[in-house]
Amino acid sequence: MGADFAQQIRDKAKELLQEGTVECVIGYETGSDGVSARPAFIYDPAAVDRLVFDNTCSHNLVKYLLDKKGKPTAVVVKGCDSRAVNLLLSEKQIERDQVFIIGVVCPGVVEWGWNKRSEQIQQRCNWCRQHTPVVYDFLVGEPVTEEPPADFADVAEMEAKTTEERAAFWREQAERCLRCYACRQACPGCYCIDCFAEELDPEWVGIRIAPEENLMWNTIRAFHLGGRCISCNECERVCPVNIPLSLLNRKLEQEVLSLFDYQAGMSDAALAPLITFKKDEKLGIG
Ligand code: SF4
Ligand code: SF4
Ligand code: SF4
Repeated sequence: MGADFAQQIRDKAKELLQEGTVECVIGYETGSDGVSARPAFIYDPAAVDRLVFDNTCSHNLVKYLLDKKGKPTAVVVKGCDSRAVNLLLSEKQIERDQVFIIGVVCPGVVEWGWNKRSEQIQQRCNWCRQHTPVVYDFLVGEPVTEEPPADFADVAEMEAKTTEERAAFWREQAERCLRCYACRQACPGCYCIDCFAEELDPEWVGIRIAPEENLMWNTIRAFHLGGRCISCNECERVCPVNIPLSLLNRKLEQEVLSLFDYQAGMSDAALAPLITFKKDEKLGIG
């Protein structure tokens, strides 16, 4: 990682912009705190030196491709982010020939905040099974040959609690939710023009900021991502009150993996099980 990765990204970005293959390269640059990375939109080959890649490059930049429809764009992706590309391709939200994917083999990103970075690797990276992007046009770094097995220790810990304890835990989380919708805005799988949370007719969930409505909001959003969540953890990262949304998402991910042997975003061909229907399908539940 570091300077060598950044230089490879800069060189490829320059080539793509000079050739006119893409109009824009979406990557990372050092933020105004001089410490952590932030998204960068490079349109001019002379500006590629702004691009960096380090262990604060947390953001999933694939979300920005939704704003670039019809415009050839390159995007820098880590392994987790690359699954979001497949998700959006399979759901016909972006077109493959309009996207150039600069994949980066990722050893993990660290916990960081404004003007500070720690050496502590993010928890999601400890569970990561796609350090090498699953789709790319140009790869930076050596592919990882053996990925670890699935690990849902966090989910098991939650499931060891009683139903009452779990209900109390999630009620307490819902009480803190501000309904700011930052989780939705950062999520590559949340792209509805009219989100159910803001529809008034029918009114799926009230707009009041109160525990019952907040619980409904977070539950329905998690279900909308059931089998579609690609584990980038952007929703949890951006939550201003640190609600552990990954616990909800990963429980659904675990269920979909065990019932359907399906992990979202591993290919652009397969649609998520919960958005497809087979007439004679029986799951043998109950
Ligand atoms: S989840 Fe994997 S690919 Fe994503 S940042 Fe962590 S180690 Fe990198
Ligand atoms: S629900 Fe969260 S972890 Fe899943 S894809 Fe959306 S932002 Fe990423
Ligand atoms: S980001 Fe956090 S506080 Fe904001 S709506 Fe989502 S869960 Fe609630």
